[in-house]
Amino acid sequence: MHQYKRSSELFDQAQKYIPGGVNSPVRAFKSVGGTPVFIKKAKGSILTDEDDNEYIDYISSWGPMILGHAHPSVIKAIKDKVEYSTSFGAPTQLEIEIAKLIVDMVPNIDKVRMVNSGTEACMSAIRVARGYTGKNKFIKFEGCYHGHSDAFLIKAGSGASTFGEPDSPGVTPGTANDTLTAKYNDIANVRQVIADNKGEIAAIIIEAIAGNMGCVLPKKGFLEELRQICDEEGILLIFDEVMSGFRLGKGGAQEYFGIKADLVTFGKVIGGGMPVGAYAGPDEIMKIVSPVGPVYQAGTLSGNPIAMIAGYTLLTELNEKPELFTELADKCEYLHKGLDQVLAASGFDYKINRCGSMISIFFTNVDVVDFDTAATANNELFPKFFHEMLKRGIYLPPSSFESYFLSNSLTYEMLDKTIQAAKESLEAMKA
Ligand code: PLP
Repeated sequence: MHQYKRSSELFDQAQKYIPGGVNSPVRAFKSVGGTPVFIKKAKGSILTDEDDNEYIDYISSWGPMILGHAHPSVIKAIKDKVEYSTSFGAPTQLEIEIAKLIVDMVPNIDKVRMVNSGTEACMSAIRVARGYTGKNKFIKFEGCYHGHSDAFLIKAGSGASTFGEPDSPGVTPGTANDTLTAKYNDIANVRQVIADNKGEIAAIIIEAIAGNMGCVLPKKGFLEELRQICDEEGILLIFDEVMSGFRLGKGGAQEYFGIKADLVTFGKVIGGGMPVGAYAGPDEIMKIVSPVGPVYQAGTLSGNPIAMIAGYTLLTELNEKPELFTELADKCEYLHKGLDQVLAASGFDYKINRCGSMISIFFTNVDVVDFDTAATANNELFPKFFHEMLKRGIYLPPSSFESYFLSNSLTYEMLDKTIQAAKESLEAMKA
């Protein structure tokens, strides 16, 4: 049985100096209870905590570790590069190389601007869309997360076209007024919001495959209709590919679903585990970005050489070995089948959603297609499942509203171990 003595001591200390003891809220285990596990090191798909417990990792640092932790080529590239200094604040050849690689891998983009996080990428893309269209409002979908900048921390009132209402103190009503929300997978609702704000909407931003209400897939035709509406109304379609980019495949959700976005945002895999984000689009739109155009956007550490070499090395490997994406999807399908069997035998209500190497279990009997249906999941069962799995050495995301991210360093033996742990956990939950 795992002991969490050291993690417990560290969590006590951390809370003295860091709000809630963590630098990003979900790490605090608030929605599952208990003490967060403090990680000492990781290799491949195995995490080791400060008490020397080991876990099979299904978070992959929330996405970036698609080929496993401490991936040898990435670590070597960082070590070599760091000798040349950690930042210059001046252009480098490496920035051209990574930009060219991204433009080669991703459809429908000519130019890419590197930033330091997914949040920055999304907030900058919205600014560009506003600058390009000359309109102020944008639509986001309930349950989609695009980072913590003010304009994204908004939920709609009950009526589709009511003004946005801030999700967090500190977000002004003025900001909230320009964020409209619509229901994921509900095209009639999108049309209604647009009709109520005719001629005022600069962009629709969407996680084409949602990962922030658990894994939720777009219904057949939904993305196609969004594309069509955007064309009809002069609205830019932004795909937030912070999760899906370089995970669903080389070309992300645009390639996977065969839909062209006007702007795309990236994070996670693009930085190989370093703090990186990016936004990209065709010349026609990106030419308005500073210093060529009037839309200002900057960053002291943007294009940082250590971050760029980590991302470049990982992306190069994914580009040269596209079969990695198929291997990952096969592993995810195998896990899905195994979990399906043990869940069916358990008698609990459940639904599993999967796309590529993203997968979620919802303890509900309702098909999960949007935030409301995701919220029907049983809030008491998930924390129990999470802790039973943790005890058995399986590290799942500590929230039922998060997707698992598989890494290709997972072996079929590890997947079998996970399925067996799920079987035992579900039995223990009934006791
Ligand atoms: N967009 C999506 C789809 C995300 O999942 C996230 C983070 O999880 C973000 C944007 C924000 O990225 P970051 O946490 O790097 O700011």
